[in-house]
Amino acid sequence: MLNDIQETLYDAEQIQQKVRELAENISRDFEGRNPLVICVLKGAFIFMADLVKNVSIPLEIDFMAVSSYGQSTKSSGVVKIIKDLDVSVEGRDVLIVEDIIDSGLTLSYLIDVLERRNAKSVTVVTLFDKPARRTVELDADYTGFTLPDEFVVGYGLDYAEKYRNLPYIGILKPEVYTKS
Ligand code: 5GP
Ligand code: MG
Ligand code: MG
Repeated sequence: MLNDIQETLYDAEQIQQKVRELAENISRDFEGRNPLVICVLKGAFIFMADLVKNVSIPLEIDFMAVSSYGQSTKSSGVVKIIKDLDVSVEGRDVLIVEDIIDSGLTLSYLIDVLERRNAKSVTVVTLFDKPARRTVELDADYTGFTLPDEFVVGYGLDYAEKYRNLPYIGILKPEVYTKS
């Protein structure tokens, strides 16, 4: 598995440091608001867990699963809700926790859904961002790392459901997804 990684971009320690920083900013900005924190499955599950452990204010969590990629490395542009929230977002301050923003299609769809359900506010934190590939104009309120235009895996992010368990983020060797 390690042989499939071309280059490590950020190691486990660098990621933890950044996650703590994001959590501090969120704790400060959401003071007194009891946000509903939404983990976008599956990619954000590790980030979500590390993040909320470092947030010092009361909050609630829920999970949503959306799909836009299938087994490919590029977005199909069609977003589907695979698993919806258990609780209502009406009147809630919502914090969407994303793993990575690429085209921005998934996130713009999610924000739209939550706003139509009358969330009081919708804020976005993403650990990774690939702004070079945006097709819709949109930025997260909190961003961990800005990445080059490469397909990355690890720390929750997969290729064909593999590599999510790597504690670091790395670039997958192109031959891994070009060979059939
Ligand atoms: P978008 O809709 O912004 O194009 O893509 C969002 C989703 O696509 C992310 O939440 C993530 O699940 C997946 N994705 C985008 N770029 C990458 C990448 O470089 N590596 C992996 N593993 N997934 C990605
Ligand atoms: Mg995601
Ligand atoms: Mg994926």
